[in-house]
Amino acid sequence: MTINMPLLDEMLREQLKVWPLAAANYSALASSERRRFKIGSLEGAFQCNPARIVSTGASVDKSAIAERPCFLCEANRPDEQYALPFSVAGGGEWDILVNPYPILPWHFTVASKSHIPQKGIPLDMIVLAERLPGAVMFYNGARAGASAPDHLHFQMVLKSELPLINYLEAGGVEDSLPYQVWHRRVTPDSEGMKIIREFASYRGVDRFSGAPDADLVNSFAWMGDDGMLHLAAVPRTAHRPDCYSAPEGERIMVSPGAIDVAGLIILPRKDDFTRITETDLIKIFDDTMMIGYR
Ligand SMILES: [Zn+2]
Repeated sequence: MTINMPLLDEMLREQLKVWPLAAANYSALASSERRRFKIGSLEGAFQCNPARIVSTGASVDKSAIAERPCFLCEANRPDEQYALPFSVAGGGEWDILVNPYPILPWHFTVASKSHIPQKGIPLDMIVLAERLPGAVMFYNGARAGASAPDHLHFQMVLKSELPLINYLEAGGVEDSLPYQVWHRRVTPDSEGMKIIREFASYRGVDRFSGAPDADLVNSFAWMGDDGMLHLAAVPRTAHRPDCYSAPEGERIMVSPGAIDVAGLIILPRKDDFTRITETDLIKIFDDTMMIGYR
């Protein structure tokens, strides 16, 4: 089966017809509130999204993960959820799934057919990006926002929805962003191969130990309107900011993953959404990413 944008559009439409939970969450998303922010040259938005509490509040420690049935394994998926198979010669075998807890109105999860852990950026996301111009693939390292670090997966949304992707594609420089970002256009030659290798081995640095860590990274792959493959990576220093575990009153429940570092800050709690400021956000960036422009 050839995977293309019309096929995925149809899959999403069909899933929403037969899957009440997903339909309710996509419908709630349509009325979710947003508030804009601008820090350096990043013009993003806060999004109030109560359904995302399942991901933002997910316990990602090893014992909690081991005790719950894996929601990406075929055996545990809801009856209503169906999968579009996708495989890469010499690469992996994947299932494309509608994400029932969407952040954006077109949101898919691409899960490995095998229950293997999130370990390093799957380069198959580049293959899928090349087939789906208009979409952006993104990957959360095991310690950088993945709510199922035990099951290899990446996700995709429409690239027009992500402020950071639009900014980078338009030629915006990384230097004026509030945190460090690596971005390259890939040419189809040996230089391009070198860039892909650099992308695949990209690492963050643990905030407390100072150790380089491939699990501390958010990465993106998409086809630009310039016809070129674009790759971006954001090195992380921690998954959750200090405010996540602050006492109620000071607590802001935010667990930055790729979508957040791309400029959409997801806040499941209405109170947090109402009171969060740009100053809070700078602190959240500083706690979880490498410091950039001020
Ligand atoms: Zn699994």
